[in-house]
Amino acid sequence: MVLKVKTTKRPASQVKRGAVVYVGGRPSVFTGVLHEGIVSVHDKLTNKARYLEPGTLLEVPYKTRKRKPRKAKKILLWKPSTATNPRKVQGVYLIHFKQPYKHALHYIGYADDLAARFAEHAKGKGSRLLEVLKMNGIDFEIVRVWKGKTRTFERQLKNRKNASKLCPICQRKH
Ligand SMILES: [Zn+2]
Repeated sequence: MVLKVKTTKRPASQVKRGAVVYVGGRPSVFTGVLHEGIVSVHDKLTNKARYLEPGTLLEVPYKTRKRKPRKAKKILLWKPSTATNPRKVQGVYLIHFKQPYKHALHYIGYADDLAARFAEHAKGKGSRLLEVLKMNGIDFEIVRVWKGKTRTFERQLKNRKNASKLCPICQRKH
C-alpha cells in the first residue's frame, strides 16, 4: 500500500533530528549527521543511511508544520469582583428617612453587592449616618435602586442635591 503524503520542501537546517522526512517519496528519518559535509537520513524502507548533498531540500509532511492549536482565551464579561460571584449586583440606592435628621431626609449610597449592603443597613450597619439614625430611633427605608450603576452615578446624584425629587415617597406628598 502506498501512502501519499502531502509534503513541503524545507532545507535540512530547518528540520529537527528524528523527524520523518520523505526523500524521493520514500519515508526516512532525518538523522542530521554531517558526514564530510553531507547530511544523512535513515531510509525506513531499506533501513540504511542515505547521504544527501548539501542544500538538498527535504520533503517534510505538512502536519509537522502545523501550529499547535491556540488555547482559547478566557473572556471576562464582568469585572473580576462580580465574576467571582455572579449573584452580586452592584448599584446605587436611595434611602428615605421617616423623620429628618439634621435637615437630612435622604441617603444615597453605592454598593457592589446591593443585597449584602441592604442586609447590613437593616441591622443599622454599613453607613455611619444610618447607624446614627438607628441610635436616634429614626426609621428609614430603601425607596429606589438603580441596578448596575456605578460610583460615578452615585456622585452625580449627590451633586444634584435634590434627592427628594428622586424619592417616590417625597414626590407622592406633593
Ligand atoms: Zn424622600
